[in-house]
Amino acid sequence: MIYRCTGLDCGFLMEDEDGKLREACPVCGKPVKPQDESRLTGGDWSRLGIFWTEMSEEQETKEEMERCEKKAYSCFRRGAAIGDALGICNLGWCMEQGVGTEPDEKQAFWLYSQAAEMGYVPAICNLAICYEAGIGTHTDRNKAFSLYREAAECGYPRAERLLAFCYEDGIGTKPDEVKAFYWMKRAAEHRDATAQTETGRMYEFAIGVPEDLKQAALWYERAAEQEEENGQCRLAFCFEEGKGVEKDLEKAFYWYERSAANGSLRAQTSMYVFLREGRGTQKDEKLAMAYLERAASEGYGPALWRLGCTWYFGECGHSVDYDLAKTLFEQAAAEGTEEAAFNLGWMYWEGKGVEKDYGQSVYWHKKAALHGDRYSMLYLGLAYLQGLGVEKDENRAKQWMMESAGLNLGSAELLLAYLSLKEGESADHRAEAQRLCVQAANDKSREIIWVKRDFEDAPKDFASVMRRQADWMEGGEAKEYLDQLLKAIDRQK
Ligand SMILES: [Zn+2]
Repeated sequence: MIYRCTGLDCGFLMEDEDGKLREACPVCGKPVKPQDESRLTGGDWSRLGIFWTEMSEEQETKEEMERCEKKAYSCFRRGAAIGDALGICNLGWCMEQGVGTEPDEKQAFWLYSQAAEMGYVPAICNLAICYEAGIGTHTDRNKAFSLYREAAECGYPRAERLLAFCYEDGIGTKPDEVKAFYWMKRAAEHRDATAQTETGRMYEFAIGVPEDLKQAALWYERAAEQEEENGQCRLAFCFEEGKGVEKDLEKAFYWYERSAANGSLRAQTSMYVFLREGRGTQKDEKLAMAYLERAASEGYGPALWRLGCTWYFGECGHSVDYDLAKTLFEQAAAEGTEEAAFNLGWMYWEGKGVEKDYGQSVYWHKKAALHGDRYSMLYLGLAYLQGLGVEKDENRAKQWMMESAGLNLGSAELLLAYLSLKEGESADHRAEAQRLCVQAANDKSREIIWVKRDFEDAPKDFASVMRRQADWMEGGEAKEYLDQLLKAIDRQK
């Protein structure tokens, strides 16, 4: 039975099949009354289709969901048959997605063009997507761009957002970040949640607009309030780092938790870190692992890498298992997670859990270094300097060390100091080496015991050359740092 709400400005349509009488409208609470099918307009059928689409999203079982989808499909079909544009467009959507029927992209494309011709704006936007992705038609990015613009100029938020992406990525038009920002913000102001997150991103990374972290956080928050998972995750990150908002780990945890619940893999991985370390919440390793395993099971690189680390170091209730760690690192590296490629390079370099193999080590370090990993750059420098796993090449060695030093890795600066002293030990060379040692001492990111490991496979005379440098240097933080490191290197011999 079909019911219509008696509220004049509501008119909600609903249908049941179980014969149970519905009395009140779920939207406005006014009474509903049975509706004769023969008196439904095309628009009514389309709205009934939306009712069934929403019902399908609430169902617990696949069968129930599919039953609702079939109902939605047949309602849109009836709306379309009477010539309702929304019905035609949504029937196209059913055909595109295979909702309540077999997917048929060609038919979907045809239906979108029919509704677009009637001036129905969402159909114009869908048509643009078809042209951009080649759905049911050939790919035509120029056409996609001009259709997005047409729909965007009508103030349709989704099209405004997609037009912004065209301008940002140069799809069917010249890249233009200022225009990208203009349209993204317009979509955001029209309450498109994804666009609100993207507007925040553009403020954060100064894309088409000067950097403004306060504005970034503000837009993330608007998206977050609308349950947009990426906005929630980015807002959490702002609170974690104190970017544009006051640093607040409890708020960071709160938003990571909501974002994780909405399916953000990045947020699930952050939940692992927060719960494991007890940041902004009670420490709970078991729950931490549950989050991590969930994100890793989706193939999310950073989660696979962190899971690999728990087996590599034997943490979070895991015993050490190098084979499992290696497999997880390999999976993470294949997803482009540079840290995992570094770990693999390190395993082969040290011969931990695998046979020591400089060739393999260089292979992995190169991958990570090209993604910007400063540790891998250092190890590549060491490999080229001594011909470990590659042909010896001092120029390349120096290039990699400089790249790594450019990212403030102290060990790389020490090796550059060493290289400078290898050229000669004049006062100028010593002064240059001292400058580098001062920079190295500024790298507080790692403790000496870790720094020491970088030099296990350093050139044999590294310690003696640097010892003479330390003796030459006057007291101060840099000399202390160097003394400490050289002592640690001595001890391990
Ligand atoms: Zn109502």
